[in-house]
Amino acid sequence: MPRPIHATIHLGALRHNQQRLRAAAPGARLWAVVKANAYGHGIERAYEGLRGADGFALLDLAEAERVRQLGWRGPILLLEGVFEPRDLELCSRLGLWHTVHHDAQIDWLAMHKTHQPHHVFLKLDSGMHRLGFAPARFRAAHARLQALPQVDEISLMTHFSDADGDKGIAAQWAAFQQACDGLSGERSVCNSAATLRHGQEAAVRGDWVRPGIAAYGSAPDFPAHDAAHWGLAPAMTLAAELIAVSELPAGACVGYGSTFTAERPMRIGVVACGYADGYPRHAPTGTPVLVDGQRTRTLGRVSMDMLAVDLDPVPQATLGSLATLWGRADSGAVLPIDEVAQAAGTIGYELMCALAPRVPVRVAD
Ligand SMILES: *Cc1c(COP(=O)(O)O)cnc(C)c1O
Repeated sequence: MPRPIHATIHLGALRHNQQRLRAAAPGARLWAVVKANAYGHGIERAYEGLRGADGFALLDLAEAERVRQLGWRGPILLLEGVFEPRDLELCSRLGLWHTVHHDAQIDWLAMHKTHQPHHVFLKLDSGMHRLGFAPARFRAAHARLQALPQVDEISLMTHFSDADGDKGIAAQWAAFQQACDGLSGERSVCNSAATLRHGQEAAVRGDWVRPGIAAYGSAPDFPAHDAAHWGLAPAMTLAAELIAVSELPAGACVGYGSTFTAERPMRIGVVACGYADGYPRHAPTGTPVLVDGQRTRTLGRVSMDMLAVDLDPVPQATLGSLATLWGRADSGAVLPIDEVAQAAGTIGYELMCALAPRVPVRVAD
């Protein structure tokens, strides 16, 4: 028998979350953001649940090819644009739309021989200082693109650094409006947090929203709001069986470094999941976990292939009982990935993306 661990991708949850996002930004077109192999879910596995989107947005040209191979004929957007001139050949061949965020990308376009003019997304750096043209240089870039026969449509975009936090989007939104004043073209500014928080504002939602994490059922602004607050359902479950159950006497320690000591006699289980499966090693004693659908906690350090759980809250648990590390238990009980991530000092994004290749994945409705 293979190691008793598996992940499940829930297509119904992906569809449900897309509906939620459409309702949050009514009338806007929806990019399914599938960078990082669909946030660890697997592009091929998640495709059936995501194909209700209006387009697919990603970074990696190989991932764009995979989306075309799945039969997608609609828009595909490269969120970082091309990395070298010959990438433009693939854009022409596959009809990829691509972000333009620095001058060299315009130089490459100007030299590119194509019969099919490209649709580009001109990116403003409105304050995050990661990618994009500074406001003072945005119009010049727009004018250059407009003069190129290789370009037939220019959409305008920016990305928010703080849509999920207290700082919010106001300053960046103002910078974007000012930079785009008088320019024609579709607009796209909203990630998940901005879509959920500002999607009812017609100007902010613009023509295209680009929610990633929320489509997979994680709250972008956890713990201010949780997934249930936004009506999102987990699209990934990670579950593994108890491969050992034992009684500890008071004073016994658990795991490497003996970081947990039983204060009184207790029952523990050992789950067939460790950091080599993508479970965060930094999750401390007390990180929430479900066993047989009931909430309990981890004990001691996470090992490469195993972790220990407290079975006192789950007296019926036995060898072979299923532990849900995050996602949805068979009973329907949900353990939000955001809670596990928070305990481990990270975010749901990182845990999803880190699901290890050795974990077998099932696809469910
Ligand atoms: C990743 C990404 C998104 C999606 O962000 P989420 O926080 O996952 O919603 C949107 N736009 C760009 C440019 C991105 O790189």
